[in-house]
Amino acid sequence: MRLLTLALWRRIIPCFMLVAVIILFWRHQYPLPADANALLWFSRLDPILLLAEWRSTGVLPGWFWLPFVMIAITLAGGRLFCGWLCPLGGLLAQLPRRYSRLQSIPWLYSSRYAWLLFTLMLLLAGSNWPVFLTPFHLLSEELFRLWKGTVPWLLAGILLSGIFIYPRFWCNHICPTGLLLAAMARWRSGRLVVDSVCSHCGVCTKVCPTHSLQIMAGLVAEDCMVCGRCWQACPQEALTWQSRAVKKADDYSSAGLSRRQFFKGGFAVFVAGAGWPLLQPSSAPAVLRPPGAVAEEEFLARCSRCSRCVKVCPSQCLIPMPIEAGITAFLTPSIIPRQAKCELCLLCQEVCPTMAIESVPLQQVKIGLAILDERRCLVWAEKKLCLLCREQCPVHAIEADEYNRPYVNNKLCVGCGGCENGCPLKQAAIVVRPI
Ligand code: SF4
Repeated sequence: MRLLTLALWRRIIPCFMLVAVIILFWRHQYPLPADANALLWFSRLDPILLLAEWRSTGVLPGWFWLPFVMIAITLAGGRLFCGWLCPLGGLLAQLPRRYSRLQSIPWLYSSRYAWLLFTLMLLLAGSNWPVFLTPFHLLSEELFRLWKGTVPWLLAGILLSGIFIYPRFWCNHICPTGLLLAAMARWRSGRLVVDSVCSHCGVCTKVCPTHSLQIMAGLVAEDCMVCGRCWQACPQEALTWQSRAVKKADDYSSAGLSRRQFFKGGFAVFVAGAGWPLLQPSSAPAVLRPPGAVAEEEFLARCSRCSRCVKVCPSQCLIPMPIEAGITAFLTPSIIPRQAKCELCLLCQEVCPTMAIESVPLQQVKIGLAILDERRCLVWAEKKLCLLCREQCPVHAIEADEYNRPYVNNKLCVGCGGCENGCPLKQAAIVVRPI
């Protein structure tokens, strides 16, 4: 009965987290329901996001205690977050294991902490790409793709790796959050230990979703996600939960960070240092960012490409930038006025988890500045009646002279794009430029 209950909870809790994240993301729409912001708070459980925010603002945010709760749990009992609370992990845990063919990738396994070091270096050097790889942000972006009816390539790849390599391949090799918690779990106090009654039948290694047992041909402490499958499966009931103080020779002992791993880590630091300039924007692209966005270079550093702002935008004036915009701008949100104007609802400020879009009062919003090309304007050039741009402007920044010719009041213009959107010409005679 006790075993049945554990198996049930193992499905219910991760599935609940996954479904909750999906529902909360779907509820990112105008008007934003109060509970939709729970996604923001879930995201804040992640120590990687805390590191990113601390790097970009220089101060610890008021919610800093949340990831510290997660760290305390990890130090107490291991990767409980990965095993029980991570929504992506919840999805991966449901994958079938019968197609899992690959037994070990030792070189990949031994270099994973070098990868973690690399991602942390990127983060501290001012890039939020590692945040994109964390579960809450990655899921948001991929759910956005699904919502738009396009293929979530990355999620599909993660699922395929889970089916054909092993379920938690992504969590143990790529996910910065998983790797950081694994590194911390090396010092956890509570752990499963193997009793002397163990007959070495190998059943526990077969059911372990982290596959760590096969990879290292031994029991690897930090990857244990405390799912309890081995405990359930052991015919000898040889596994028990004990504190570090009573650690036995046969327990899930950590393979210490070897000298080779250490040097690989050092090499990663070197590569990161050399490769970092390639990830820097050579010049800021001339695009319009959401209202409240920080300065362009800092925006590129802070944005985690989660697409939550794009999803919540009621007018759908925001789009994630395509790869043609360059690797640094890829997937960052930009306003396309010809598609729609910004309604200045400022919901994007509320949902942005990384402070790439800051909370700025409406009076201080300045997305860009409208520039009128008088040589092509129907009123100026052809003396026709038009002024559609003026009709579309919500802040009355388009004024008209005594001949009814439009001109832009730069002081009033916020750059919402209404004028550019309203211009009847195929190529608008008035365009909003970033400032
Ligand atoms: S700017 Fe948009 S895509 Fe970037 S982190 Fe904020 S909400 Fe996510």
